[in-house]
Amino acid sequence: MNTCYMCKAPATGPPEHVPPQCIFPEAAQYRKGLITVPSCPEHNLGKSMSDEYMKFIVLCSGGTNELVNTTFGSVLRSFVRRPHLVPKFMPNRREVSIAGQDTAQISLDYPRFKTGIESMVRGLYFHKTEGKCKLLGDIFFGMFWEQMLGDEDFKARCREAIRNAEITENYEGANPRVFQYAFDSRTIGKTSMCRLRFYEGDPIWITWENVNAHET
Ligand SMILES: [Zn+2]
Repeated sequence: MNTCYMCKAPATGPPEHVPPQCIFPEAAQYRKGLITVPSCPEHNLGKSMSDEYMKFIVLCSGGTNELVNTTFGSVLRSFVRRPHLVPKFMPNRREVSIAGQDTAQISLDYPRFKTGIESMVRGLYFHKTEGKCKLLGDIFFGMFWEQMLGDEDFKARCREAIRNAEITENYEGANPRVFQYAFDSRTIGKTSMCRLRFYEGDPIWITWENVNAHET
């Protein structure tokens, strides 16, 4: 029997969408050929809140195209329906002005965001290789940098990783205006790297060490 993309349990749950379906606009033209992977019930139904949170954060990334507005509307509607989510998704919210534009600064719940990104990368890795990876590395995302202005060590590691990155692969994805991904040349080696890009915005870089990469 197939096992779950995340663990050794039998894949008895419904197939898991990677990325989660909620990230795509509702129109069918932007939901072509969605990727699904076998999943146990825990790693499918158990993570809808981290999916929603990850959707909220990636929709806020810089450089996105105009399609993001349609999807952001669904986030705002869910805030109206469930107002208790607002302080959960936007803790320590305060108005700021950046380059003359009024915007807001919020604290990022990094562990929750990382959980969402981790299951997505593991799902994509399984889709591509039928192997399972353990995600142990870092997530580099332009949005974080402002918040980490005081952390010179983190910024230096970001620059180093991007400078040394071996970008060898073109982006893949059946709905390129919504979501694209690329596993770069070290993926099957010791250090793996992948890029995720939502709504043509700033890419998110993820690195990890392969440990028991093909353990099943
Ligand atoms: Zn599982």
